[in-house]
Amino acid sequence: MALEDAKTQIDMAFTRAERRGPAFENAFGGAVSFLRRAYTKDLTGVDLAVTGVPFDQAVTNRPGTRFGPRAIREASTLQAFDAPYGWGYDPMSEMNIVDYGDLAFDYAHTASFPDRVQAHIAGILAAGAGTVTLGGDHFITLPILRAYAEKFGPMALIQFDAHSDTWADDDMSRIDHGTFLYKAIKQGIVDPAATVSVGIRTDNPDTLGVTIVDAPFVHQAGVDETLRRIRAVVGERPCYITFDIDCLDPAFAPGTGTPVWGGLASWQAAALLRGLAGINLVGGDVVEVSPPYDTTGATAVAGAHVAVELIALYGWTRRGAR
Ligand code: MN
Ligand code: MN
Repeated sequence: MALEDAKTQIDMAFTRAERRGPAFENAFGGAVSFLRRAYTKDLTGVDLAVTGVPFDQAVTNRPGTRFGPRAIREASTLQAFDAPYGWGYDPMSEMNIVDYGDLAFDYAHTASFPDRVQAHIAGILAAGAGTVTLGGDHFITLPILRAYAEKFGPMALIQFDAHSDTWADDDMSRIDHGTFLYKAIKQGIVDPAATVSVGIRTDNPDTLGVTIVDAPFVHQAGVDETLRRIRAVVGERPCYITFDIDCLDPAFAPGTGTPVWGGLASWQAAALLRGLAGINLVGGDVVEVSPPYDTTGATAVAGAHVAVELIALYGWTRRGAR
């Protein structure tokens, strides 16, 4: 069945009629969408929209994440055939998931960029769908969270990152990937008492009340104890996950702008994301994948896996309601 489909199906990003089900199109050919979902702006009946924000003008060091969404989509074609491992259900078959395409913006009008991101995400949320966003550098998470806070109030947040991203920005106007969480907390978008940062391994003088579960803790205490700490912070609240790919060690994710050694292995990230099943996830993103520095493609593969896990988490919470 699958082999026959691979011989006859092509460009399912545009040709598939249904919103659900796996795709057996050859991984190496055809038009690319995330997980071979329908590439559409029609959000009718959609549970979850995957969208790209190809923006990298806020980075401290190496750029390139503007190419992230495209590379993650391509890497995701390897996962479009069957359910993600270890969940016991197939979110592709149980949810209406579409690829909503990328945010349109004028790269030379950076001042208007944050509002455009916020409106883009708010439009999807208003249609009743959740979002999984492919970045882009970590600045994009600030306007995304603004859109979520408009709907849900101050958010609980799980941040996977090597950096706390709480550097001060006193006039709140800098478009900077190292200050997204500072601004989100200072502006009341994110509740620091319900925020946990996992995988941190760089100093920051002020974490603003965020719970830090740093990389050495994860390595020494293990996955289960790390999960207990995360769950204790976010509880049952509507929760957003932002996954900066530099949370992973550069051995697993070299293609990123500000790599730091001593990070999480990909198996640890996979175990943590799956171990969070049941949290009230309302959306998420994977950011900082920089294909020009991703010489093997491993970083894009990791980014695609993170996005699929976010989708599986989102669907898991909603299975009981259907
Ligand atoms: Mn980082
Ligand atoms: Mn970050």
